[in-house]
Amino acid sequence: MESKSTTGPIANELGASQSGELPGADTSAVAPVVPTREALVRLRPIGLVNARVESDFWAERLRTNLERTIPHGASMLEACGNLTNFELAAGAEGRYHGAEGDGGNPAPFLDSDVYKWLEAVGWTLAQEERSELRPLAERMIGLAARAQRPDGYLDTFYQVAKPGDEFSDMEWGHELYVAGHLIQAAVAWKRGLGDERLLQIAERFVERIEAELGPGRREAICGHPEFEMALVELYRTTGERRYLELARTLVDRRGHGLLGSCRYGARFWQDHQTVRSAPEPAGHAVRQMYLDAGVVDVAVETGDRELLDAALRRWEAMQFSFTYLTGGLGVHHQDEAFGAPFELPPDRAYTETCAAIGGAMLSWRLLLATGEERFADMIERQAYNAILAALGPDGSSFFYSNPLMQRSTIPEVLHGIATTRRIAWPRIACCPPNLMRLISSLPDFAVTADSAGLQIHQFMSGTFSATIGPGAVSFSSRTEYPWDGVVDIEIETSIDEAWTLSMRVPSWCAKAVATFADGRLSGEGRDRIEIRRRWKQGDRLRLELDMSPRITSPDPRIDAVRGCVALERGPLVYAVEDADMPSGASVESLELADSPNVRIEAREAGESGEMVRLSFDGRLRSEAENPWPYRKFGPAMTRPSEPIRVRTLPYFAWGNRPGRGMRVWIPTQA
Ligand SMILES: [Zn+2]
Repeated sequence: MESKSTTGPIANELGASQSGELPGADTSAVAPVVPTREALVRLRPIGLVNARVESDFWAERLRTNLERTIPHGASMLEACGNLTNFELAAGAEGRYHGAEGDGGNPAPFLDSDVYKWLEAVGWTLAQEERSELRPLAERMIGLAARAQRPDGYLDTFYQVAKPGDEFSDMEWGHELYVAGHLIQAAVAWKRGLGDERLLQIAERFVERIEAELGPGRREAICGHPEFEMALVELYRTTGERRYLELARTLVDRRGHGLLGSCRYGARFWQDHQTVRSAPEPAGHAVRQMYLDAGVVDVAVETGDRELLDAALRRWEAMQFSFTYLTGGLGVHHQDEAFGAPFELPPDRAYTETCAAIGGAMLSWRLLLATGEERFADMIERQAYNAILAALGPDGSSFFYSNPLMQRSTIPEVLHGIATTRRIAWPRIACCPPNLMRLISSLPDFAVTADSAGLQIHQFMSGTFSATIGPGAVSFSSRTEYPWDGVVDIEIETSIDEAWTLSMRVPSWCAKAVATFADGRLSGEGRDRIEIRRRWKQGDRLRLELDMSPRITSPDPRIDAVRGCVALERGPLVYAVEDADMPSGASVESLELADSPNVRIEAREAGESGEMVRLSFDGRLRSEAENPWPYRKFGPAMTRPSEPIRVRTLPYFAWGNRPGRGMRVWIPTQA
């Protein structure tokens, strides 16, 4: 199979005319994903410097990330020994800190948490100078430089705990995964700050990896994808095509049994079928998302339509039957894996934070490649629900696993990865720094550009600018989203010819209308509203999205929640907590009334920050006291129940008050 991946030059088989090449396309955007001019993409990122998010829902979270989460991360990386490992690799005396303690082997991937932190800081400093972050970052960059061996190798686990065993455990060793995170941090510092120190370290390590595993060398792949997408970004940053060649080689090596079958089968690490043939997502959810992100990157840079179609096919299968209402991905606790189609139990939902983050990273790449708003819809669902729920309002507590139901009587669990409340730092700490880097780069997801104009995908308050063909254009937007569906847009800079402003109409939105300031209707639409005109400075436009509450029912094939409904409004999924139930009652006895009369409550400030709650009419069921919780099948038994008015809260804000019980899916009496 090596021949498939290495024969023939890498060329854009579709040709530049179909590649979406844009006159004046900005390939110097300060962003995690910046396709080259030749790439097969329809949209371009405008980058973090051109997306200034101010005073809104996300601005608050960016601030919390900057002021609390990132500093907290630095102190935890210090306290947990991640930084000490670099000191040891640089020559200090001591033993590798491997997150042992649960009786397992030392974790080999702790360096990656340092790199994710550095990536988050790189994107953050690109947006705003924060002198207090500089010394911490300098220390970490200095440590990486000192720890790197003269031959370029850099992985403190192998240098300190397993010297001589480099590249011997491709299944579990995570060496290329760690290298991938180093590259992504390096790209952030290069693009965001023009600082090439990490880039030099990363390129030296990649050279060492190429000598071992590159095209024509030993045929091996890493058990945890990540390196592939990072290599493509390294190619995009440096122009060195051999990085793209290595990424394509690794992508095409997968699925040929090089990793063999682990205790969870070859599906676990997506080695059961080739990336070109696998029809649906399988195995470890984070691995599948990171792999497909790399697959899309390789596909668009090499013009490989077959590869792009394969990733699209898996994404569609994922959306259709493997995704929780919250956008959470990966059901199984045992192997952190996708289950069978429609196997989506709410209380046993694993939904690792990193899987939803990986899902957003994949959808972003597909949005750039295709221009289709369904990918922005998924990013929105994941960002506001599965991802945001993982971060406490204090900015320094985290969920690793994000279930859609927690039983009121569950014993408190504060260790491991399925904790009953957010904790300061999980022993395996992949998720917290992943949150940091995602949030710090979130403004980049809001707006893209193409030769025709600008596209608004996520609604944020701020100023957004880009160069389109003949010149620079910019607009400001003001919104109370997600609490309100009004987005006010004002053109700040324009050019002397017509261009198109496009606005996503979310798939959940029944009606969207855009009107000019003088009241003239300018558009209505389903997926997007596009307005092409000769925009002038000061032109104003109001987009109004229907934010009526929605009662959502699941596909009956999702057996675990059959007969239940969930409440949604705008991009938010809602939940009920014990704290909002009558004294002594739990969410487990809650049912929806026949006429639930769902209402939007007044906006309020609470333990979890500002929010708009929904309320509905429910019933509190009196539980049967039978000794056996099953009965003869027959007409539905009417049990006594008491009508109650129930207040819900956004799912992302659950888990901040006393009481354990929480549920998204509410049983109906049917
Ligand atoms: Zn994680």
